[in-house]
This record gives sequence, C-alpha cells and structure tokens, in this order.
Amino acid sequence: MDLRALLDVQRLDTAMDQARHARANLPEVAVQESAAGKLATLRARIGDLLREQGTLESELAGIEKRDAEIGTHLARLEKQLKSVIAPREAEALQHEMKNLMIEREAADERGLAMLDASSAADAALGETRAAGAEAARELAAAEATLRDAEKEADRVIAELSVARADLIASIDASDLATYERLRANHAGVAIAEIKHGVCGGCHMDISASELDAIKRLPADQFAECPNCTRLLLR
Ligand SMILES: [Zn+2]
Repeated sequence: MDLRALLDVQRLDTAMDQARHARANLPEVAVQESAAGKLATLRARIGDLLREQGTLESELAGIEKRDAEIGTHLARLEKQLKSVIAPREAEALQHEMKNLMIEREAADERGLAMLDASSAADAALGETRAAGAEAARELAAAEATLRDAEKEADRVIAELSVARADLIASIDASDLATYERLRANHAGVAIAEIKHGVCGGCHMDISASELDAIKRLPADQFAECPNCTRLLLR
C-alpha cells in the first residue's frame, strides 16, 4: 500500500471538500440577495405611491365634480332670488346659498391639501424611481459578480477532479477502497502522520512501546493508530 500516494489523494479530497463547501456558501450570494431585497422594497414603495396618487386623483375629481354642482346650484338659486318677493322666502334662499358656499369653501380647502399631497407623492415617486433604477443596476452587477464567482468555484472543482483522476490511475483499486472506507468513517482523515509521538488524526499520544512496534513493522506492512485505527505514515 502506497500511503504517500494515498496521502496525496487525501489532500486533494480535503481540498475538494473545501471547494464544494465554498461553492455552496459563496459570499456573493448574500450580496446578490441583499441587492434583490433592496430592489423589491423600492418596487413595493413605487406601487404604494402610484396607488396613493390614484386615490388622490379620484378624490380630487370628486371634489371638482361637487364644486361644479354647487356652482350650478348657486347660479340657479341666485336667479330664483331675483324673482322672489316674500322676505321669508328670500331669507330661506339666502340661507341655502350660504350653506352651499360654506360647503364649497371646505371642499376647496380639501382640494388644495390634496394637491399638496399629490405633488409630495410625485416628488417621492421621482426619487424612489431613481433609487429603484440605481438598485436595479446594483443587482445586475451583483448577479454578474455571483456568476463569475460560481464559474471560478466550478473551475477549481473541475481542476481538482482531473488531478484526482490522474492520481488514482496509478493506485491499486483495493487500496483506494480501503482508503475511501476509512476516510468516510474518520471525518475525512484516513491517513495521519505521527508528529512528536501524537497521531495527526485523533491527536492522541502513541505510547513509546507502540511507537517502537510501529517502527519494527516490515516495510510492506502499514501501521494503524492503536487509538483511532487510522493508517499511520511512518
Ligand atoms: Zn489516531
């Protein structure tokens, strides 16, 4: 069993795990999502402002209609007043006219307030549309950056796949199977190096007598960590 070659495979597999994790957690995704959220908020605001404008316009139209009705009514009453002789009748007409004028004045005031609100909504709509256009540009840029990052991550993964295929071509199939089984059972580390009497896989001390036994193994036999059973490089 060529542990050195398998250790190279393990290094590639670790790099591949990291590359796949990075591909699944690209920071550019959060940037793109935040830009999309910003644009959606601005579009909702534009919708609100357009509805507000619509309401104001229809209310203004209602006021104008009522204004015209009052005008017609007043003209008719004025004409009537000229032909009235009885003072009580004249008084009643004048009272009715006064009420209509009060109503018209109040309606005109409401109309002016609505015109103010309408021009405020126009200004807000203009600003929000400009901000929306800017947010759409930001989103397009974030999407392009994300696509580039995804492409780059995919390229790294493809490169690692090719390198692994090259490497395992010269490795015995049953050795590779052993390595893969161990790697699956040992959190991605099948082969560990002994450093300062410690297993690099489980970080447990290997006793002096165990180390000695490992050293005495024939060259064609591989050593196992007595604690975690990972393959040990001598
Ligand atoms: Zn160990």
